[in-house]
Amino acid sequence: MKNHLRFDLHTHTRASDGLLSPRELVVLAKRRSLAGIAVTDHDTVDGLGEALTTSEEEGYPVIPGVELTTDYDRFEVHILAYFIDHRHPELRARLAEVTHDRLARAEEMVARLNALGYHLAWEAVRARANGPYIGRPHLVRALVETGVIPREKAEDFFRAYLVPGAPAYVPHRELATEEAIRLALAAGGVPVLAHPGRMGNPKLIPRLVAVGLVGLETDYPLHSAQETAFYRRLASTYGLVPTGGSDFHGEPNGPSLGLATCEGASVLALVRHARGPLAPAFLGKLYISANSWE
Ligand code: AMP
Ligand code: MN
Ligand code: MN
Ligand code: MN
Repeated sequence: MKNHLRFDLHTHTRASDGLLSPRELVVLAKRRSLAGIAVTDHDTVDGLGEALTTSEEEGYPVIPGVELTTDYDRFEVHILAYFIDHRHPELRARLAEVTHDRLARAEEMVARLNALGYHLAWEAVRARANGPYIGRPHLVRALVETGVIPREKAEDFFRAYLVPGAPAYVPHRELATEEAIRLALAAGGVPVLAHPGRMGNPKLIPRLVAVGLVGLETDYPLHSAQETAFYRRLASTYGLVPTGGSDFHGEPNGPSLGLATCEGASVLALVRHARGPLAPAFLGKLYISANSWE
């Protein structure tokens, strides 16, 4: 297996809408012989303390990250930020506002689902979140686990009721994309545009480069081979680091850990851009764990 040359730079834990704890995720990555992972929960850094403690205990390289949900005109754009200082006060304050807004939004979606005849208690939703972060998957899991909709209908239900334009959908009030890039940089992090193929507007890439975008997630499970090739060319045109990751959430029907990966050269290019205090620790663990590669 050549896993030990590959990194998965896009994963979620229970701190946002994943199903595994940060510890379980890091231990799984080590068992899969990935060279390292980035933990990139949506709009929260609450899982990073446990992820980094596990990284220490296991001697396994973990990049502290976050995936910021942002608005760019009418597009939802996700910015991955790597090697952030998760204790950075401005980052924490802004994320606290975002998760607070998410709570109100989730309550509104629950109210709409109830009005549509899908009985869903707010407490059932809260019980499925591990912290203040709540997103649409928590609503769907609560509906399935309280028997309101069958598990095999969950995906259809999501598309029928909870996507933009659908009756129970409420938009987020999020960071503007440029602000997210500035925030990532201010926290010592390295901003990378997530899954550009899911965004449908490659024209915004040069504008994001102008405010400090460093990388492009070229390798992603939902990108076709043509899209991956297209975005790799784009990365090279704009001098962006090509990265990759699975978007693993721990869901049995979702992408598996390591389904899309990033090569070591790109990881080292990200390290060179990192200003936060945690890149040296990552490199140290990489160096030590590389000695055990077969
Ligand atoms: P939210 O944070 O409320 O905007 O929910 C977005 C999350 O829902 C994403 O991060 C995915 O984990 C999940 N998601 C998005 N689209 C779908 C879909 N069509 N089916 C199932 N889950 C989805
Ligand atoms: Mn998600
Ligand atoms: Mn995303
Ligand atoms: Mn993601």
